[in-house]
Amino acid sequence: MPLSTAEPEALASPTQAAPDPPTGPAQFESWGRYPKYNAKVVPLNWRGDFPAVLASAHGSVLPVGLGRSYGDVCLLKDGTLLQTTGMSRFIDFDPATGILTAESGISLAQILDFAVPRGFFLPVTPGTKYVTLGGAIANDIHGKNHEVAGSFGNHVPCFELVRSDGSRKLCSRTENPDWYAATIGGLGLTGLISWAQLRLRPIVSRGIDYEGIQFHGFDEFLELKRTYSHVEYTVSWLDCVSTGKNFMRGIFMLGDHAKVPGELKPSPEPKLVFPFDAPAFALNRFSVSAFNTVFFHKQGKAHVKAVHDYEPFFYPLDAVLRWNRLYGSRGLVQFQYALPWESSKEGTIALLQAIAKSGLASFLAVLKAFGDIPSLGLMSFPMPGIMFALDFPIKPGITFPLLQRLGDMTLDYGGRLYPAKDAAMTAPQFQTFYPEWQRFARFRDPMLTSSFWERVTDSTGAKPTL
Ligand SMILES: Cc1cc2nc3c(=O)[nH]c(=O)nc-3n(C[C@H](O)[C@H](O)[C@H](O)COP(=O)(O)OP(=O)(O)OC[C@H]3O[C@@H](n4cnc5c(N)ncnc54)[C@H](O)[C@@H]3O)c2cc1C
Repeated sequence: MPLSTAEPEALASPTQAAPDPPTGPAQFESWGRYPKYNAKVVPLNWRGDFPAVLASAHGSVLPVGLGRSYGDVCLLKDGTLLQTTGMSRFIDFDPATGILTAESGISLAQILDFAVPRGFFLPVTPGTKYVTLGGAIANDIHGKNHEVAGSFGNHVPCFELVRSDGSRKLCSRTENPDWYAATIGGLGLTGLISWAQLRLRPIVSRGIDYEGIQFHGFDEFLELKRTYSHVEYTVSWLDCVSTGKNFMRGIFMLGDHAKVPGELKPSPEPKLVFPFDAPAFALNRFSVSAFNTVFFHKQGKAHVKAVHDYEPFFYPLDAVLRWNRLYGSRGLVQFQYALPWESSKEGTIALLQAIAKSGLASFLAVLKAFGDIPSLGLMSFPMPGIMFALDFPIKPGITFPLLQRLGDMTLDYGGRLYPAKDAAMTAPQFQTFYPEWQRFARFRDPMLTSSFWERVTDSTGAKPTL
């Protein structure tokens, strides 16, 4: 185990961090493709490249992974992005403890290809496996098992942080604990995470024992959550367009890793690529409403049980590369809030009514509960209560005023928004959602910033205007 800041030897080089679609993006884009900023992209291939590359960088810099954040947390207007995906080597793996040590640019897809055949799985995973280890730590991401596992940082025993002055800090709960807490969920601003450890969990099969249960309304959702509190993974798809008797209808999806031993082979690479930017009219109230009705009834019965492969259970969207083009060249924004239990019902109903009324909702709407395992990051997003996420197409003059209203409502209900998904929070909103932001700012590396950080710490409170 590399518990010193000396460069550990690499075990092996895995394959690509994410499959290359035939037409790669011309510039570094976040997943929402909004905002679009020019930046110089400099690849980091070796752990020693940083801070040496600073000599040729102009202005501030920001380490980035695979750009799977939706907004501007992984962007730096007119600055230099240090892309870590070339730093993707395995360093050490101990099957007795499940602790994997790897360079920070490795993707969760690469980790799964290594771990699954050995009978291990990620402790926490987001809805795409095309994110890097460093990106997962910097946003302290959460998965469908937040209630039993907490967020990603809870499974990262230690990592190395490299500062622009060349100093290297080994960070864990006992060594440099303040830097450890500031860097988990630290939005890439405290320095470069060069390598990290991750505690994997054992599995005996690729299979997931799955159940899908239709529900109507918040109370039925809560009842299901209580009934299935013993199940590791739970998440609900929600119809955000329907009103009246179908308001808040959804499918409660739950699963556990199969206990019967089964196949443990790596996943095949996805072959489908969304071929072009869809025209602006493709996503509208009628097409989304039709999709939602089909999706709600697709399982045929009110309650189904099946064994699914983990890929469609955890990563249904990864089957089609670049599906974000469905939203056209203007892009999309995601609105994701967490609300505390006290206001979760009233707040969720009010927010969903406002969304349904706007006619803007999309079909990717997810509702889930956050548990009370505390996150280790100073700026982590999860809080005990309800989490809801929804994609919106960008419509000039409509989307941002709506997001502004929804952000204010989230604030009134005592919740917060998720920087990893955000392109619209104002400075006053951010500073109320994250009251520790000034303490956190003391850990920021003076050479590092992001367009997100500049936006939400701007004392003029400037708002996105599209
Ligand atoms: C389809 C889809 C589903 C998703 N589902 C979920 C979900 O369920 N839960 C969830 O929490 N998130 C989810 N996300 C968001 C995603 O998990 C996060 O945005 C993640 O951080 C992206 O990782 P990345 O490697 O692409 O990093 P980027 O987006 O490139 O960067 C993210 C942040 O990490 C910083 N960073 C990256 N590498 C380093 C490094 N080596 N050192 C220091 N800082 C670094 C960057 O500066 C930036 O602030 C989803 C995204 C998509 C597209």
